[in-house]
Amino acid sequence: AAQEGFDPEEVDGALDEAGHGPLPVVAVVGRPNVGKSTLVNRIIGRREAVVEDRPGVTRDRVTYEAEWSGRRFKVVDTGGWEQDVLGIDASVAAQAEYAMDAADAAIFVVDATVGATDTDGAVVRLLRKAGKPVVLCANKVDGPSGEADAAMLWSLGLGEPHPVSSLHGRGTGDMLDAVLEALPDAPKETFGGAVGGPRRIALVGRPNVGKSSLLNKVAGQERVVVSELAGTTRDPVDELIELGGTTWKFIDTAGIRRRVHMQEGADYYASLRTAAAVEKAEVAIVLIDTSESISVQDQRILTMAVDAGRALVIAYNKWDTLDEERRYYLEREIDSELGQVSWAPRVNVSARTGRHMEKLVPAIETALAGWETRVPTGRLNAFLGELVAGHPHPIRGGKQPRILFGTQAGTRPPRFVLFASGFIEAGYRRFIERRLREEFGFEGTPIHISVRVRE
Ligand code: GDP
Ligand code: GDP
Repeated sequence: AAQEGFDPEEVDGALDEAGHGPLPVVAVVGRPNVGKSTLVNRIIGRREAVVEDRPGVTRDRVTYEAEWSGRRFKVVDTGGWEQDVLGIDASVAAQAEYAMDAADAAIFVVDATVGATDTDGAVVRLLRKAGKPVVLCANKVDGPSGEADAAMLWSLGLGEPHPVSSLHGRGTGDMLDAVLEALPDAPKETFGGAVGGPRRIALVGRPNVGKSSLLNKVAGQERVVVSELAGTTRDPVDELIELGGTTWKFIDTAGIRRRVHMQEGADYYASLRTAAAVEKAEVAIVLIDTSESISVQDQRILTMAVDAGRALVIAYNKWDTLDEERRYYLEREIDSELGQVSWAPRVNVSARTGRHMEKLVPAIETALAGWETRVPTGRLNAFLGELVAGHPHPIRGGKQPRILFGTQAGTRPPRFVLFASGFIEAGYRRFIERRLREEFGFEGTPIHISVRVRE
């Protein structure tokens, strides 16, 4: 039987993140065509993950989870940058700048068959100025004869060039060992005394929704730039802000306030930062501008938070601008466009007038509580038994697949594994999710359900 010797912690390799803090972030930077995307694919071990070959197409998804030698980390692929918009030098420099802001370490990829170019030299200067660890990847060393090319890259002054063939996998293991060595140990989040330190919030939303206005409103004079407190963080762009008697860590507030001077490509840059902030956070507050229609970009940001498995609060900002008619249409838009996140607590705020600011903290707490909910196995199976008896799966091909047993394999967000006697249709899975939410709450959190078929 499938549940024999079953260890919930091993399901899907999904370990509970409780107490482990955010994963370290490694950015892969370098000129176009040096092999960044190929390397990222190699590191994450999935051929299909980065497939966008059309030039000028920006990808939404830029962060991937990876594991090497039993250690998990995030890889940020900067390969989607539109080079011709900014010119190669500017775009590569922007990548490097991003990497320094958001990552804990960088892998700098150079095409060893070409050697170090002027652009490479310029990036090296940026990387060194930022003072974060850099591992030099001498790529396209497909065989021993390329080793000499790799050795030439000592001239960049970044230390040992690691000869790698991203295409064939040669040398990637040794390079990843060096990357792991360069990463800081698990972040120390001891400030505030609580296990894991202050809860981490990402305040996100498309440009002009009111992020910096909201931040200023809630923070007032209370803010503490975390980097000023020695030993509290590894990321100088986070801020500790006291709200409702609790200290919270707002992730990447520098990115919220910084105006991106580049006109073009700014969206892509913003989306990189949003993705990184969400990855590091426990809960995302997604701001929506109610003075405008809900856009594809709003939905994309919501999807980012959900896919990352973060707790979610939706704040509808600029509520002061609504008249009765706009308000009517807004509610219909929310119903039709944001139905998939109807479980997220909602607050209608105005960063301008301060309306309902006091409702933010309860919403955040609700979402975090849902995110951490654990349903005991006994209760879950009593619930599943009743559900299956009352609403059996439709009969397919003369057979009726049944849910036999379930367990919650993890929290943050809740993950369930169900064992079934046959294939469970998507519609029935959604039905189960709906009923789980009705029964156990899970307000403000995505939930994952995977089904194992017992032969
Ligand atoms: P990016 O623009 O830096 O993301 O580069 P890509 O990953 O798209 O790679 C650019 C080209 O270099 C592609 O044609 C790859 O197949 C090729 N390439 C990448 N890594 C290697 C390698 O290790 N050896 C060889 N021979 N080619 C590689
Ligand atoms: P960000 O790009 O998301 O950080 O947005 P900002 O905080 O810079 O705000 C963009 C614009 O929206 C500014 O002109 C703000 O004054 C305005 N704004 C922000 N919040 C509100 C609000 O609640 N009501 C109104 N009427 N305007 C707002």
